[in-house]
Amino acid sequence: MTASTGSWSYALIRDMKVPAYQFIKTEVAVVMRDKYPKARYHFLVIPWADIDSVYQLSPEDIPLLNEMRLLGVNAIESTGKSQDIFRMGFHMQPSMHRLHLHVISQDFVSDRLRYKEHFNSFVTEFFMPFESIVLELQDKGRIEQRSKELIEHLLRVPLACNQCDFPCNTLPQLKKHLESHLDS
Ligand code: AMP
Ligand code: ZN
Repeated sequence: MTASTGSWSYALIRDMKVPAYQFIKTEVAVVMRDKYPKARYHFLVIPWADIDSVYQLSPEDIPLLNEMRLLGVNAIESTGKSQDIFRMGFHMQPSMHRLHLHVISQDFVSDRLRYKEHFNSFVTEFFMPFESIVLELQDKGRIEQRSKELIEHLLRVPLACNQCDFPCNTLPQLKKHLESHLDS
């Protein structure tokens, strides 16, 4: 089946236009709360410009990226939490259309974190930090597509806590462990 614009993978493009979902809205981009948050705080910054993913970016888009980052900072400020507990970046292989910057707290305590791949997509190199995307655009003029093998490898690496490297055999074990960091 070819993906139509009615498909789930176009939901960000549809929902960013819905006022109720616009946590912050500017002429450049919209900040939405992630509908299936993988941590206590998880926002998406989505530009109005029709850019499908990081792989369509060019160095001329760096000012837009910087605007998106500032909106991410605004979203973090709205939580009243320290900037230090957040990371901003892009997935190496996004599942949804339209460029989206993840702004996510590093606790990974969420009912929506249901698969090993969910966790690994945020704690391995699969999560491409904002700064590294800007640097790659400056150095190479574009974001180079990563290999299928690398992508599959990163999503399947053994589970280990992102805060203390504690290895976990199963996701339930990891989730329990992550909750213990919240209390400490
Ligand atoms: P990615 O894997 O980088 O494409 O991430 C897509 C993100 O969009 C995931 O974190 C999803 O939980 C989130 N998501 C999916 N549908 C929606 C939606 N309709 N509104 C807000 N966030 C969504
Ligand atoms: Zn730990």
